[in-house]
Amino acid sequence: MSTPFDEMVNAYQNALSSPEPSLALTPISSQPAANDAPCCLICAPHPDDESLVGGLAIRMRHQEGWRVVNLAITLGSRKDRKQARWHEAQAACNYLGFELASPLGIQEQAFENITLDAFEAQSPQWLSSVTELATQLQIFKPRMIIVPHALDGHTTHCATYHLLMQALPLAKLTERCHLLLSEYWNTQLSPRLMLALSPTEVGQMMTATAMHIGEVMRNPYHRSLPAWLIDGARRGAERVGLPGQAATGMNMAALYGWLVWDGTLHEGPKALVQLGDAMPDFLSSTF
Ligand SMILES: [Zn+2]
Repeated sequence: MSTPFDEMVNAYQNALSSPEPSLALTPISSQPAANDAPCCLICAPHPDDESLVGGLAIRMRHQEGWRVVNLAITLGSRKDRKQARWHEAQAACNYLGFELASPLGIQEQAFENITLDAFEAQSPQWLSSVTELATQLQIFKPRMIIVPHALDGHTTHCATYHLLMQALPLAKLTERCHLLLSEYWNTQLSPRLMLALSPTEVGQMMTATAMHIGEVMRNPYHRSLPAWLIDGARRGAERVGLPGQAATGMNMAALYGWLVWDGTLHEGPKALVQLGDAMPDFLSSTF
């Protein structure tokens, strides 16, 4: 028996399996960031995370004129894919206008064994990675860091959060830094920033994700992104906004937790950012 929604359900299904478009594309912008632009650092547990959670970074780069650096915390667990994954990340970053950086300062290399087991053991390899990450924080002096929240499901995502928290005090940053906690494998308990994304921005996130060719062949992560962001708009209305409040009018939104580091850690403010709204002033000293 048919339902009034059959056509809509079939449209979703068909969107998951239509032929892949060509990815021969010019970058979003050829305009480099200014030399003195503030830096948004993405601590990406894997190549592709910078694209999957990159809505905020795209906005900071292309609307706010910030520099965005994607720090490739790991290149995944498969040794035979590491080099290819670096190059896939490079293609995605070129398209997005982000820089790609190695946490070791060595092209095509990244940390190994970033897991909750290594964190709990505080192994020599883990402690060395903490020190190396602190060095990168000193180099890039980020005013914003995008990192997964502590319970983001995948062991490397959770461990990347802990790695950053351990490295931050060592880096001795001299300016306030906003930590925006991304979510992908698990939703987070306390989202604080709800960022509406335009269809164009979501298309850019999908395109960049699709450039991780080896990954999307296993699972079409790029094609499920609109559904994830539609769900973000649903959850954010009540979790960043007030329970029971009127719908925000946002169709697609990315949610982030928000902490502020100024030598100690504070909870950040709550903000709903509609399309066309000014971004919160991340350089202000009033938070
Ligand atoms: Zn990941």
